[in-house]
Amino acid sequence: PASPAIDYSALAGELRSGNRRALAKAITLAESTLDAHQTQAQALLTELLPHTGRSIRIGISGVPGVGKSTFIEALGLFLIARGHRLAVLAVDPSSSLSGGSILGDKTRMELLCREEAAFIRPSPASGSLGGVAEKTREAMLLCEAAGFDTIIVETVGVGQSEIAVAGMTDVFVLLQLPNAGDDLQAIKKGIVELADLVVFNKVDIDPMAAQAAASQMRSALTMLRPASPHWQPPVLMLSATKKEGIAEFWQTIEQFRITMTAAGDMEARRKRQANDWMWQQIDATLRHRFRSHPAVMAALPEVTRNVTSGILPPALAARQLLALFK
Ligand code: GDP
Repeated sequence: PASPAIDYSALAGELRSGNRRALAKAITLAESTLDAHQTQAQALLTELLPHTGRSIRIGISGVPGVGKSTFIEALGLFLIARGHRLAVLAVDPSSSLSGGSILGDKTRMELLCREEAAFIRPSPASGSLGGVAEKTREAMLLCEAAGFDTIIVETVGVGQSEIAVAGMTDVFVLLQLPNAGDDLQAIKKGIVELADLVVFNKVDIDPMAAQAAASQMRSALTMLRPASPHWQPPVLMLSATKKEGIAEFWQTIEQFRITMTAAGDMEARRKRQANDWMWQQIDATLRHRFRSHPAVMAALPEVTRNVTSGILPPALAARQLLALFK
């Protein structure tokens, strides 16, 4: 038997009143790959859209072990004590590729989990990075409609997930270890370019080494073109376990928000992100329809064979296949 239709209007109402179970249900609906659920989820999102956008969206990235969950828990408790409501989402492509996840196991952020003003959701596991990012964007909007004023999207310093997270947040934070080598890795991979803020964690272990790493990072940053002409990414020091540097971190985020809002960059960034998101969806949908088109599917094995054996030029093969896609 078909599952009963969900009354998304009622769900929207419950979600907006801050009902966490309704929020979790809405996110599950958005994450579903069933067509019927997708239709409902999109109707729900459309209804809720006027109530979204009123949060600060913070992306946090760093390699496994840098202290992301320790930091997010400390920051979360700090913010809740000041009356904020915080949602923590994750983009972890490893969870769908390997079945195991780098982020998002249940034992993380135990104290934060118990807080009524915190909502923690592990990474969706829906195949490609694009799919995971898409679901996380929607979860972010749903959390905003539920009244969360601070959204943290966490990701790991492996693969392309940083680009996806920087593309859905207002401010992108790179968490670093104060070891020589870690900073070089991040610079080489082009992640530092995405950062609006670089934070060295675990400075309690070796404060001298941390100072040296921070000044090296500062000079590296001056050689890069900042994402906004109005903001030169600062470098901060932190000890998540000792809860040192949390207030300074938050002050910097607030300063970023004030500066970028005044310059018009905050709004411009969000508009660009919404537009990019639409095009990513169009690209992904077209690609999917193309690959599942009957005539294309029928011709594909032979065309592929001819391309790989060097008989058919790839550009001509593409044109032949596209001509079948009507
Ligand atoms: P994640 O993989 O990035 O989420 O890292 P975790 O938050 O799980 O932290 C990894 C390890 O580093 C844990 O054992 C933490 O207790 C430890 N850790 C995190 N922050 C600090 C810090 O500021 N100082 C020290 N000494 N250890 C830390």
